[in-house]
Amino acid sequence: MDVTHATRGQDIDFDACLREGADEPLPGLGGITRRSLFKFCAGVAATMGLPAGAGISMAKAAAAPSRPPVIWLHGQECTGCTESLLRSYHPTLETLLLDVISLDYHDTLCVGAGKQALDYKHQMMEKHKGKYVLVTEGGTPTKNNGIYCQVGGKTQMELVREAAEGAAAIIAIGSCASWGGIQAADPNPTGAVGTHEIIPDKTVINVPGCPPNPYNFLSTVLYLLTFKRPPELDEKNRPKFAYGRLIHENCERRAHFDAGRFALEFGDAGHRQGFCLYKIGCKGPETYANCPAIGFGDVGEGAWPVGTGHPCFGCTEKETAFRKPIHALAQVATYTPPTAFPEVGAQKGEGVSPGAAAVVGGAIGVAVGAGAVLMKQMGEKKKDSEGTGAA
Ligand code: SF4
Repeated sequence: MDVTHATRGQDIDFDACLREGADEPLPGLGGITRRSLFKFCAGVAATMGLPAGAGISMAKAAAAPSRPPVIWLHGQECTGCTESLLRSYHPTLETLLLDVISLDYHDTLCVGAGKQALDYKHQMMEKHKGKYVLVTEGGTPTKNNGIYCQVGGKTQMELVREAAEGAAAIIAIGSCASWGGIQAADPNPTGAVGTHEIIPDKTVINVPGCPPNPYNFLSTVLYLLTFKRPPELDEKNRPKFAYGRLIHENCERRAHFDAGRFALEFGDAGHRQGFCLYKIGCKGPETYANCPAIGFGDVGEGAWPVGTGHPCFGCTEKETAFRKPIHALAQVATYTPPTAFPEVGAQKGEGVSPGAAAVVGGAIGVAVGAGAVLMKQMGEKKKDSEGTGAA
């Protein structure tokens, strides 16, 4: 991790940096330039549906010298959420994430071990009481007093409650921390539950996914850092900017669904031609997430399960992931939504038409897409510069 945080953010004139010196690397941000940081944060703001000014505020918050301390606990899980954050090729993630926050304790990334590590965690929790962000990864077993997951002689239930006590904000990352995940699949032998069930009196921001998209986590952290409050949440405490839209209504295969063109089994003619995956178990019609808009990694367009030919398995939904069989058909609320499409031949400005919904939806899609493109461009630029040796 970079050790130059002490100078980071100092003497930075953000308004001037838009005019000149924008391509100077920001101190302590791993070579990220001011222009890149602004561009990235503008992308994050657009993805979250925020005005452009919010991107500037985020950039300032990200480059501020003070960093929020983070205590990161692991329960029952595969560590895939941490893997997806840290193994991302995208430079902004590992750089920004580790430079924007002060990862004071992480169960699996600790240099220290045993008592030394746990003592350090307690010191940090005491020192930053009321100020740190608690991130939980993994489910928490509750059966038989939670004996199925323990660290340092304490159960995960005790560890979560202890760390939540002094936390300023709590984020449950991944489906296991949000709902219990695969451990909670029937018959749930350890009584695994999500973090919010262990600390029902606290607000837990759920960022589900298996794994969750790193951008959604980073955007949530940037929002917390900038506005000192959680982003707008849905009824499952998920940030609406990421979990407010149905996959089925934003899927690139939707036209095939509406036209009745389906893959009937893996590898058949329909599958090879990119037809809709509904009949081989796609849970897109009952799953809310922004996967079609922002994808995963830096592979390019279509880098998400459905884009690669695998049905969505509903990993962001408590009732679907690991509970509904992979081959089971999803509930479809709207088979074809003709009222959401512009009428053929409709004139622009003809009062309020059903097409307005599509126009608004389209505008939102453009904004989200633009944000995603901006964020991706940053990765591509870095990739290019690494390949060519250019600055
Ligand atoms: Fe896309 Fe799945 Fe909906 Fe088909 S069922 S349109 S593959 S989300």
